[in-house]
Amino acid sequence: MKNTKSDEVVSCSVDLTKSEVSSSIGEDISIKESSQHQADSHIKSKDTSAEATAKNNKHSGFEGFGFSDALLRTLTLKGYKDPSPIQKAAFPELMLGRDLVGQAQTGTGKTAAFALPLLERLKKNSKLPQVLVLAPTRELAMQVADSFRAYGAGQPNLKFLAVYGGADFRSQINALKRGVDVVVGTPGRVMDHMRQGTLNTSELKTLVLDEADEMLRMGFIDDVEWVLGQLPEKRQMVLFSATMPAEIRRLSKRYLSEPAEITIKAKAQESHLIRQRYITLQNSHKLEALRRVLETVTGEGVIIFARTKAITLTIAEALETSGHEVAVLNGDVPQNQRERTIERLRNGGINVLVATDVAARGLDVDRIGLVVNYDMPFDSEAYIHRIGRTGRAGRSGEAILFVNNRERRFVGSLERAAGQQIEQMEIPNNALINQSRLHRLRQKLIKAAQTGRDHEQETLLLKELLKTVGEELNLNSEQLAIAAINLAVGPTPLLAQGNEDWLKQQHSHRNRRDDRRDERISNRRRGDREPISPEEHMERFRVEVGHRDRVKPGNLVGAIANETGLQGRMIGRIQIYDSFSLLDLPKGMPEKIFKELKKLKVMNKELQIHRAT
Ligand code: AMP
Repeated sequence: MKNTKSDEVVSCSVDLTKSEVSSSIGEDISIKESSQHQADSHIKSKDTSAEATAKNNKHSGFEGFGFSDALLRTLTLKGYKDPSPIQKAAFPELMLGRDLVGQAQTGTGKTAAFALPLLERLKKNSKLPQVLVLAPTRELAMQVADSFRAYGAGQPNLKFLAVYGGADFRSQINALKRGVDVVVGTPGRVMDHMRQGTLNTSELKTLVLDEADEMLRMGFIDDVEWVLGQLPEKRQMVLFSATMPAEIRRLSKRYLSEPAEITIKAKAQESHLIRQRYITLQNSHKLEALRRVLETVTGEGVIIFARTKAITLTIAEALETSGHEVAVLNGDVPQNQRERTIERLRNGGINVLVATDVAARGLDVDRIGLVVNYDMPFDSEAYIHRIGRTGRAGRSGEAILFVNNRERRFVGSLERAAGQQIEQMEIPNNALINQSRLHRLRQKLIKAAQTGRDHEQETLLLKELLKTVGEELNLNSEQLAIAAINLAVGPTPLLAQGNEDWLKQQHSHRNRRDDRRDERISNRRRGDREPISPEEHMERFRVEVGHRDRVKPGNLVGAIANETGLQGRMIGRIQIYDSFSLLDLPKGMPEKIFKELKKLKVMNKELQIHRAT
């Protein structure tokens, strides 16, 4: 707040590993979910005890911050026991009305960190908005408004509204007219409402910028500054950002007054140890794709997430038919069996678990090497939770997401939530599967050769057996070894021969469609139909980085100028599409430079530059 009472700048930095966050949060979710699903007796009993605690309102780690009884009760009912580190640090500052800069990612409890104190400081019976939260996406805006609503459940008179583009203006205007205490919106739509006078900010006490770096990345910073310029001079300002690029620091210096600074350093190693990829495919190919993935991505233990109980059963049956040891965890599985299943997964009795989100909440098994998102998660929070089942205890892990064409556009928001790129991958083909089968056989053979048998006596008997069979059939040692391996491999063919035409079709169909879609998007952006032809003295090249990789023209110019020694202004038109870009360079590029450019990496991806036809 401008003119804060205290001059002191509180700066606090907390180290937090992902697992610490998710373990504290895992508890909450199991209770929250339970009230919706009432699936098993264990969870029901937890729920009842939550209600009992809520009534007594005892032992809440949220006491001592000056929160009202109503809020404490709501938190207990939600199953929140203790504030997360960012909340502990933020509550006292925000309760005093100070400005605050918080560096924290989704999943740290940052929404409650600002929502709870701001709720508590709302004046009753004010018709005009007192708090405005700007969020980069419609999804986040709705989520934050929902959180306010949930935390404000104890004060039914409070009104919350999410405003975002693409939704009906009229109903938003009507809601604003009826009176709203907290507005959460995307910058563009908020600006529209302010311009046409339907959002009156004259009584505004607090502005929150949530995921400020994301708003910068999405090009909203001018809109944000416009909004800031319209607000009352005396107001509290809160800024949350996962990263602190220079532009956000500038914004914070310019608009915040002696802010408290909180940094939650998520030790991101754990999440970065998880390699994340996605496969685009038709729904009807999912089971076959899953079989193929399991053959090639060898995680010690695997969890497959499906949306419904029925799908978990279908997947389990299909995998059993292909020889996997599988167990299912869904809301129908009773608590005692659930615990046995998790124990079997933990000690290697089973390798593959097929689960729904609710059933796998808080599941903590170190030996999970692969998480397959067979169905798209409900939201990015669910995605983070799912992939957090692997890469535990400092191990590495893999996460693979299946998406159909419609779902692919959500990959970007999952990437943002995960703070990491999700690479595209193809459904493994026969060649890859066979390579992987041979590799596994080789590993087994090496292990068997190195360990031998426990009992000397048995080894002698086996040697005798080999000798007599060899003599009987007149076989050399290689022929005998092959016979022994055949015995170990069994009757099913070692190499996959399955028809893979559908894979090729899917691949080429997608590439063609991608290109067409990219062109459409680009044409729409430019407002014309065909890519503009290169100028006379220029030649057109294609590079395999695009919007999807978050490449900007400056990245391409910088990298190419560095590598080729060309001056930036010699590089011609750059047209960025979704998965690739076209750029015009002076004709007659020497072969040597061309070769070097091929290997050049921009946005961590090889350019693979080639002449565009
Ligand atoms: P956020 O970082 O705001 O996206 O929050 C992540 C998740 O943590 C949400 O599902 C919240 O409901 C939950 N959460 C926030 N604070 C707490 C807390 N103190 N205890 C348990 N869960 C929490």
